[in-house]
Parts: sequence; structure tokens; C-alpha cells
Amino acid sequence: MKIANTILDLIGDTPLVKLHKVSAGVSATVLVKLEYLNPGGSAKDRIAVRIIDAAERDGLLKPGGTIVEPTSGNTGVGLALVAQQRGYKCVFVLPDKVGEDKRNVLTAYGAEIVVTPTSVAPEDPQSYYSVSDRLARDIPGAFKPNQYFNPNGPLSHYETTGPEIWRDTDGTVTHFVAGVGTGGTITGTGRYLREVSNDAVRIIGADPEGSVYSGGTGRPYLVEGVGEDFWPGAYDPTVVHEVIAVSDADSFAMTRRLALEEGILVGGSSGMAVVAALRAAEKLGPDDTIVVLLPDGGRGYLGKIFNDGWMRSYGFSNAPAGHTVANLLE
Ligand code: PMP
Repeated sequence: MKIANTILDLIGDTPLVKLHKVSAGVSATVLVKLEYLNPGGSAKDRIAVRIIDAAERDGLLKPGGTIVEPTSGNTGVGLALVAQQRGYKCVFVLPDKVGEDKRNVLTAYGAEIVVTPTSVAPEDPQSYYSVSDRLARDIPGAFKPNQYFNPNGPLSHYETTGPEIWRDTDGTVTHFVAGVGTGGTITGTGRYLREVSNDAVRIIGADPEGSVYSGGTGRPYLVEGVGEDFWPGAYDPTVVHEVIAVSDADSFAMTRRLALEEGILVGGSSGMAVVAALRAAEKLGPDDTIVVLLPDGGRGYLGKIFNDGWMRSYGFSNAPAGHTVANLLE
């Protein structure tokens, strides 16, 4: 029998799959690791379980406690999932720009959400940051995971993502590529792969153009979940050999190609990471194996990246037209 005891036992051990079409002309093997197959739909399930385990162990989170975090995305889903299983309450503070679908995923798991105005300064008492600090202080038994600085984020990837990649490639991986948001994924996975390979695996970050990791000033971009305008404690730049900047347009075009040409429906940061990997691969040969981590699935982006009108409104060109039946019926 192959039965998991709880949903949390299904976190991690995500599969690797080889790319064929989008990597045509590349002689290296390009493998992608599908993190959307985690139960909460992203790589963030890994950090959620590790952060909560550590908080319980350190006495920061007691039975009946409340998890308070400013997050609108995947980390919220991971934390909400673990909290549901362990009997904690969750309060997430979100800026009002976050769409209804993302809010509804969090409340579906039983989390409470507090919506704050986007257009106020961080020091304003109404801001996302101020409100979450105040709630963490005022709610009895509150615990704030603080994913940008919590060392358990990178540790979860050091303990799980890295060893899975090494095991599943039989130690043949030569390059690892991941987008950088908090930096936890690349720091933890990269550190493990460098250690286990006697420093032979090369670690490559992918970053939206404009973000600080690739030398930008923090100017805005549209790819979600990656890039920053400050340096988080979860990121260790000494682990990373190189950071490749990718434009929104290239990231989104590749995201659509992954669905159309590989049958892999993922988010924009996944497209971004694949673009960076293929650029790195231009210099590589048939003995090289690149593993690219794809953090989440595409269902959360159907109204954006996969919507022609939205793409056009930002000046991005559409994916190759495939709607020939509709043309026939006209
Ligand atoms: N892509 C998406 C969609 C994410 O939500 C995140 C997490 N912020 C990342 C990439 C980057 O992961 P990390 O925070 O570990 O750098």
C-alpha cells in the first residue's frame, strides 16, 4: 500500500522532468523540478513546515497559537496548510492590490485575512508592515515567521530540495538554476549541492531586470514572487556564482511556451528561471545537466500571463496563435 498518513507527508519529493522543445539546440540536458506538485501548490510548503516545526521546538508557537505574516502568495498557502493540520490560527496581512482568487485560497484553508492599502508608506500605521507588526504584538500567542530572515527557510531547502536533486540525478547535476525572492531556495539548495559535489555544481540565480540581486535599483517589474528592493537575511550571496537578469517579456513568453510546447503549466518565475537556464546552457556541452526549479503552477496566473488582453495591456506580444477552429467557424 502507498498511503500518506496526512497531507503534510506529501510535501517534497517532487519529480524532475526533461525539457525537449524549448531547449531545442541546447546540447546540455535541461531538467525541471516541479514544485507545483507540492500539496499547497508551491515550493513554499517546504519552508512552512520547517519554520513551524522549529517554532514549536523553540517554544515560540504553543498549542492554540496564531501565525501572523505579511504574505499574499505561496508562503501564506503553505503556512495555512500546516496551521490547519496542527491546530493553529493564521492571520495574513495583504495589500489591497492582491486579487480575489489569492485571498480566497487563504480563507479556504481557514486563514483570516486583513487587507491594507497599497498606496501608503511602509512607516504609515496603516501599511502592510505596520499592521502585521502590531497584530504580532497584540494577539496573545502570536508567532511571526518572518520568511525573509528566518534561517529555517534556507535550511528546509538544504535538507530536502538539495538532497532530492542529488539523489534523483545520481549526482550528475552540474548546474542549478532558481529564481531569487527571499533567496531561501537558492541559498539552501545551492549550499547543499556545492557541499555534496566538492564544489563542482555551479549555482545560478535568475532575477527580474530591475531587482537588486542582478544589480538593479529595485525598480518595478511584473513577475511575481522573485526579485527584491532590499537584501533579505535568507539570501547568502556567497553561495551563488552568477545571477542572470531576465525581462518580464522574456519570462512571460517562456511561461506560455512551457504550457504550449512542454505541457507544463507554471507561473512567471518558472518561465524566468528557464530563460536564465537556457542562456547559461549556451556555453555548455552534452556532459552537462542543468536542474531548474519551477516554484509554482500556472493556475494562479490565468487572468494575467495566460490572458491575451492582460498581456497586450502591458505591451507583451501574445503566444503563437493556435485558435484555428474558431477561425473556421467565423
Ligand atoms: N517564485 C515564486 C512564485 C515564489 O512565490 C517565490 C517565493 N517568494 C520564489 C519564486 C522565490 O523563492 P525564494 O523566496 O526561496 O527565493
